[in-house]
Amino acid sequence: MSGYHPYNEADAIGLARSFENVFSPGADLHCREIGDGNLNLVFHITEPATGKGLIIKQALPYVKVFGESWPLSIDRARIEGEALKIQHALAPELVPQVLLTNHEQAITVMEDLSSHVIMRKGLMERTLYPRFAGDISTFLAQTLFFTSDLGMSQQEKKLRQQSFVNVELCQITEDLIFDEPYREHERNNYEDSIADEAAALRIDGELLTEIALLREKFLTRGEALLHGDLHTGSIFALPESTKVIDPEFAFYGPMGFDIGAVIANLLLNFASQEHWSQDEASRREYREFLLEAVRGTWTQFSAKFRTLWDEQCQDPVFSKAPGYQDLYMDRLLQDTAGFAGAKMIRRIVGFAHVADLDAIPDDAARERAKRLGLLIGKELIRQNRTIRSIEQIIDIAFTAA
Ligand code: ADP
Ligand code: MG
Ligand code: MG
Ligand code: MG
Repeated sequence: MSGYHPYNEADAIGLARSFENVFSPGADLHCREIGDGNLNLVFHITEPATGKGLIIKQALPYVKVFGESWPLSIDRARIEGEALKIQHALAPELVPQVLLTNHEQAITVMEDLSSHVIMRKGLMERTLYPRFAGDISTFLAQTLFFTSDLGMSQQEKKLRQQSFVNVELCQITEDLIFDEPYREHERNNYEDSIADEAAALRIDGELLTEIALLREKFLTRGEALLHGDLHTGSIFALPESTKVIDPEFAFYGPMGFDIGAVIANLLLNFASQEHWSQDEASRREYREFLLEAVRGTWTQFSAKFRTLWDEQCQDPVFSKAPGYQDLYMDRLLQDTAGFAGAKMIRRIVGFAHVADLDAIPDDAARERAKRLGLLIGKELIRQNRTIRSIEQIIDIAFTAA
């Protein structure tokens, strides 16, 4: 990374000026660093006179939350930029357009989506997203099918896998999701009020076995090019639009990990409605929307994925073997449930949390919501290998609440 240096606002404006089809020559440009993550700089450059804007995202060579004590390769910016381009080509309405990548500077220049709201925030404000299930299921079906052995050349897929060997970011997932929550670890982070729950996870043999199986799947099953971090903080939404950003964790892994991430984050918000909905009737109503989004995400994904398979699968064996598609989809739903559960638990007892739960001001409501999230997460993991339909997943949440 010879020429690499972290950008300041003047550097960002200088680069932005080269986009002559976005900004007027010599225009007065404003720049603000708006990154809310721990790993990257995000510059928002605007031309007030025209209202036009651009985003410049740059990877930092360390995790910001620990200062420079946790180094992290800036190669993840190449991975993010390349993943965005692939995903944009497969789902053009649902992914920002990339205008430039510079691997040496670890920079991605992309379309400005500031009109959208980070979905986690929208869900905390109880916004209804009637398009969400339709859009996210399209994103998932298109990106997972066309990067898998079902939907692309199997030789090209192997070559592509080599450019998405995301060693360090995968390790973050392996540690934070599939290891640390199940033992004592300095990075674990939970309040005393739920210490009993955290302690119980460490000695729950049945759960530990399922987590081992999920960890093994994450480590070994290169089914498709995953987004790898598809939580509601990586989704920009409006009631009429959905955009998926931030695929720096992209790698070849099990498809259920992405689908499960979406469902986990809907269900974490479901649990958090202990607070965000202030009365029984509005809570029931918003939770119905969330469960309908869970149902729609799976049923529409499954329908779209099967259609792509029927119409576009070139593999001579996979396209014809009787019952194979059904077995594949059954397993995918089971993986989805298991990964969703694992993602819920890590957000409550592990290192990195979600605002849906942590921003609940009232201690008792926050504790109730976290216990509910853990209960749902544990049931999803416990039952994952026997899940037969999405209704079983919805039942788990409905019954727990
Ligand atoms: P990180 O990997 O550090 O989490 P993100 O890609 O999630 O970075 O971006 C961090 C924040 O920057 C987002 O939550 C959003 O507020 C803003 N942002 C990122 N990409 C865009 C974009 N294309 N348009 C507008 N804002 C963006
Ligand atoms: Mg962020
Ligand atoms: Mg992010
Ligand atoms: Mg990120």
